[in-house]
Amino acid sequence: MAEARRRLLGGAGAANWAEHAFGMVVRVKLVVQVKLLPTPVQAAALALTLRACNAAAGHASRVAFERDVKSRNELQKLCYREIKARFGLSAQPAVRVVKKVVDAYATPRRCAVHAQGQSLLKADRVPGMAAQPFDDRCLSWRYEVGTVSILTTVGRLRDMRFVCSPDQFARLRAHRQGESDLVFRDGAWSLIATCEVPERPQFEPADWIGVDRGIANLATTSDLDNFQGRRLQRYRRWHARKRSELQAKQAKSANRRLKKRARREARHATHVNHRIAKDIVAVAQRTGRGIALEELRGIRDRVRLHRHQRATLSSWPLHQLEQHITYKARRAGVPVLLVDAHHTSQECPEGKHTARSNRSTREQFCCRRCGLAGPADVVAAVNIRDRARRAWVLVNVPLPALPELLVDAARTPQPVVNEERDLA
Ligand SMILES: [Zn+2]
Repeated sequence: MAEARRRLLGGAGAANWAEHAFGMVVRVKLVVQVKLLPTPVQAAALALTLRACNAAAGHASRVAFERDVKSRNELQKLCYREIKARFGLSAQPAVRVVKKVVDAYATPRRCAVHAQGQSLLKADRVPGMAAQPFDDRCLSWRYEVGTVSILTTVGRLRDMRFVCSPDQFARLRAHRQGESDLVFRDGAWSLIATCEVPERPQFEPADWIGVDRGIANLATTSDLDNFQGRRLQRYRRWHARKRSELQAKQAKSANRRLKKRARREARHATHVNHRIAKDIVAVAQRTGRGIALEELRGIRDRVRLHRHQRATLSSWPLHQLEQHITYKARRAGVPVLLVDAHHTSQECPEGKHTARSNRSTREQFCCRRCGLAGPADVVAAVNIRDRARRAWVLVNVPLPALPELLVDAARTPQPVVNEERDLA
């Protein structure tokens, strides 16, 4: 039973459940990105440091390639002194540079790239300015005044201001751990810090909220909450048009602007997904319910789309929404269940009659047998919720500690025939 339950809870949930069972404190790793506001002098020092780190990585990479060194210890022995002396790095960045090179060689694709005589660092967004991690010895945070102090190749930079949202600030202050990455992107400096937030023990759900994900409606819940994607679609189409204009130019600067635009678009999608996930998890937590999602595998085959919609689907981060919901739920102790996605939008929630003809248009559902009608997304969300109810009851039957769930299940009308069909 425990096995079945773990399987139902899926990846992240599985670890969560298992670790709670052993009474361990589980933490969710989250990243917080803060914007740095360096003075021109400080910015120049940061740029020098990042360039030195990258140049040192290039050097270590050449040594590793020429001498065919794959072990971190060995490469460190060969390069450490020279990196410190020649590139002016202090001990920790020097060690990190070596680790970065060894890690890069550990991935087969990168090895292949280097074997062809290309630089390891070619994939960097700004040449020679790839991100570099800094630990607590080289980077210290002063939250009360909102500044950081960074050890650079030209000495320690104190009182460099940073900004972030109040939420992020609180998280940073309470939970920041280990290293932070110094990043230069689109002409701006930022630090990406890691926070380890303890998650709450998962509660036993009183019921489930079914969430249907889609294109026109990004998310529809069985509570009839609806997160529309129409405005976002317009936004994405506008970006797509701009993109093709720039692509036609084939100039270097156009290419750069293209990349920048793609990142901006991705940021916006991430923001929208965050907001949706936050709302759904908040409702689930408040009402003591779990969240049920469809397994996304196969969604591309399942959904029939117009040609112009296909590009939107393959680039829309539906999977990201799942990740956001999952980690926010873990933090709040809300259980998440992934259910079978087959025919969720073609099945009648009442009589369980399943047919493609039940869904004559993309928006509308109308059961051919009993006449039940409604928006297709809502029907799908209700089906997802019902599947979660059945699955949860199924794995919980032998556990006598959950009487309220069984009572709740008994109250929900469920034809025996369909139970059997689902089990088969
Ligand atoms: Zn029906």
